[in-house]
Amino acid sequence: MARHKVVIIGSGFGGLFAAKSLKKADVDITIIARTSHHLFQPLLYQVATGILSGSEIAPSTREILKNQKNATILLGLVEDIDTDNKVVHWRNHNREMSTAYDTLIVAAGAGQSYFGNDHFATYAPGMKTIDDALELRARIFGAFELAEFESDPERIAKLLTFVVVGAGPTGVEMAGQIRELASHTLRKEFRNFDPRQARVILVDGAKHPLPPFGPELGEATAKALQKLNVELLMDTIVTDIDSNQVTVKNLNDGSETVIPSVCKVWAAGVQGSSLGKIIGEKTGAEVDRAGRVVVNPDLTAGNAPDVYVVGDLMFVPGVPGVAQGAIQSARFVAAQIKAKVSGNTPKQAEFVYKDKGSMATISKFQAVVKLGKVKATGFIAWLAWCFLHLLYIAGFKAQVSTLLRWTVSFLSNARSARTTTNQQLVGRLALKKLGAGSSGKLLAESPATATEETQL
Ligand SMILES: Cc1cc2nc3c(=O)[nH]c(=O)nc-3n(C[C@H](O)[C@H](O)[C@H](O)COP(=O)(O)OP(=O)(O)OC[C@H]3O[C@@H](n4cnc5c(N)ncnc54)[C@H](O)[C@@H]3O)c2cc1C
Repeated sequence: MARHKVVIIGSGFGGLFAAKSLKKADVDITIIARTSHHLFQPLLYQVATGILSGSEIAPSTREILKNQKNATILLGLVEDIDTDNKVVHWRNHNREMSTAYDTLIVAAGAGQSYFGNDHFATYAPGMKTIDDALELRARIFGAFELAEFESDPERIAKLLTFVVVGAGPTGVEMAGQIRELASHTLRKEFRNFDPRQARVILVDGAKHPLPPFGPELGEATAKALQKLNVELLMDTIVTDIDSNQVTVKNLNDGSETVIPSVCKVWAAGVQGSSLGKIIGEKTGAEVDRAGRVVVNPDLTAGNAPDVYVVGDLMFVPGVPGVAQGAIQSARFVAAQIKAKVSGNTPKQAEFVYKDKGSMATISKFQAVVKLGKVKATGFIAWLAWCFLHLLYIAGFKAQVSTLLRWTVSFLSNARSARTTTNQQLVGRLALKKLGAGSSGKLLAESPATATEETQL
């Protein structure tokens, strides 16, 4: 008799942990993902700011699962799911393919949301993929490079003004790191200007940074950022962005301010993968405004008992879009499948999320941690952050290499992954111009509708 076929879409935390948890199950697993790597998104900001290289946080999925004989990995972009006939339709460039499943796990995650202003993406890339992080690295270091041969003080100021939109963990981490680059790493490297004069501005509509951490830790983070010389524009939203400036509006008095800036980072808002909408249409499951599938208590979707949605693409009240949400939901679904295949009743009928706390770094040696009622800031919190992040990086090689690079960066302020290329800088927009996203020839899916080139 043919073995039970499990198809997993995605190789992020949800996809990888589902596959690993099914290692000993009597099933054949096919992972279809649009990248050949598993991405550790929490450290993307370190790739963008030259601390880590892409390979430390994006090891090959094939290599991670090489000893798992029941897992096959296919590189492709899933475009449709036929829940009636239990088939997933996908393609790799021009090659279109279909894969049948008995059980489907959709772990396709979420992309960046520009809240209906997708054209902002041209000038303010988000940070969801290795491509995004490398583009941002090229833009950040590139802005300093351009300032070296400018004579117009206004243009130099514009090049040295970095605007980070969104004061969640990613925005806070990016702002802190750009500040450290300007204040320490690049301090002696330019002759035309002093990098310390760079401005880093963090914008958010909330009252304080890190809103999910609560007011106490939010205020502590605000103080720590201000001490680093990050300018905070809280209670403020972005109303427009172009190549030369960001327009912001103060929510208290309605006043608008234009900030001349060449390099912008978008770290606000998430939008579920477009597969969420397809699942909603096919199974009758509700899809929320952020494009996430409102799943049943056992994480199945709508009227399809063989389609599970896990990780950032699922909506379960009280479960945040964090790595633990993806890992725990993936493990829960794997347990359901194992029970089903062996004819047993699952131990747990409904998914219950265990909050293991949240943490974010502000800068070198400073972090905030919230674990239930326990709140910590400063060096101890930062050590806990380092330890846990190292623990979850996939693969011993990547862990050792990350530790070495951290030692270099944290002890000397140097960055060992500063290489940037023209392709990183203009690749995304050039591909858009070629129409690659819409003609469907590549493995890309991006919210950007950009046709104009970056100024950098
Ligand atoms: C910059 C950043 C920082 C973060 N920091 C933290 C943090 O500090 N702590 C924390 O807990 N969480 C953090 N998160 C959140 C955490 O990374 C996510 O919650 C987690 O990655 C979700 O896992 P997932 O498997 O659902 O989705 P993802 O990890 O996004 O994986 C989605 C997978 O699906 C694939 N895919 C998508 N669409 C398709 C398709 N159509 N066809 C085929 N494959 C497809 C993708 O290539 C990818 O492999 C951060 C996220 C970001 C972006």
